[in-house]
Amino acid sequence: MQALVISETNRAWNLTEVADPRPQAGQVVIRVRYSGMCGTDLHVHRGHFSAKLPIVAGHEPTGEIVELGAGVTDLKVGDRVGVFWYQKGCGRCPSCQSGETCPTAQSWLDLGGGNSELMLAWASGCALIPDGLALDAAAPIFCAGYTVMSALRNASPKPGERVAILGVGGLGHLAIQLSRALGLETFAITGQSDKRAELLALGADEVLVTDDHPGKVLERAGGADIVISTTNSAKQIGSIFDALRPRGRLINTGVADGPIMIDSLTSMLGHREFRGVVPDRRSHLREVLDLAAKGKVKPTIEVYPLAQANAVRDRLEAGKVRYRAVLAHA
Ligand SMILES: [Zn+2]
Ligand SMILES: [Zn+2]
Repeated sequence: MQALVISETNRAWNLTEVADPRPQAGQVVIRVRYSGMCGTDLHVHRGHFSAKLPIVAGHEPTGEIVELGAGVTDLKVGDRVGVFWYQKGCGRCPSCQSGETCPTAQSWLDLGGGNSELMLAWASGCALIPDGLALDAAAPIFCAGYTVMSALRNASPKPGERVAILGVGGLGHLAIQLSRALGLETFAITGQSDKRAELLALGADEVLVTDDHPGKVLERAGGADIVISTTNSAKQIGSIFDALRPRGRLINTGVADGPIMIDSLTSMLGHREFRGVVPDRRSHLREVLDLAAKGKVKPTIEVYPLAQANAVRDRLEAGKVRYRAVLAHA
């Protein structure tokens, strides 16, 4: 089969012939149809996110199951599925025993990702895609959508609270829609003023255009109870913390480009919290898939052939993608 292999950081990814995967017990093989490109893929490319090379990236894959390993009883050949990041925990640690994400869970980093014709995955890492939801639109939900829904749910939003989404790309554009779907007042904060009309159309109540100090901009607009940060700018994340209202929560979903500086007095005096999040509960993923199947949340995607992956990655790095690039497999 053909697979897009990353052999070295900062070098072109090569579409090359590799052996077809064979499923072990508990695993499945998926014929991949679409695979979203996430910012993390860019971090792997640049060597800012540690992955053992060579590797096949792609952690937003969707397709159909073509083969079942021994003991797989919940899934069938022909099922339309996507694969999420944390596929299989150890089963025995306190996190696993409480149904939470295992710190040593296996992922695409262990089995290889979806930028290939056939992909190996643990059956426990696959989710069924609801009827009526297209496989291309479903792809970004498996990392971007799942992550921001986990962020929103972990912020425990209350009716009437205001949410600000900092950084509006693959994650942020879904966060706006999900926050609105939950009935929350939603501000979008972006450095790209030309996105304003699109973000209002996605459902943002207000679009704030910012420089490196989004905290000042949001403070002037009255602050927010919840900030979902999808940027990787440590400077911006530190700044926005100052604009949290008392008892506000800043939820970080990204790999920051440096240490995040948070003012201790701002944190203490207002009971303001900083939290990190990873996609951690299947129910959050299911919620987004259901909302998308009902048309209440719509991933905005650009679809390109897998063979153009290097150019697509450059486009992502240049901040030109509106809002998620998805690679189509022949
Ligand atoms: Zn991702
Ligand atoms: Zn575990």
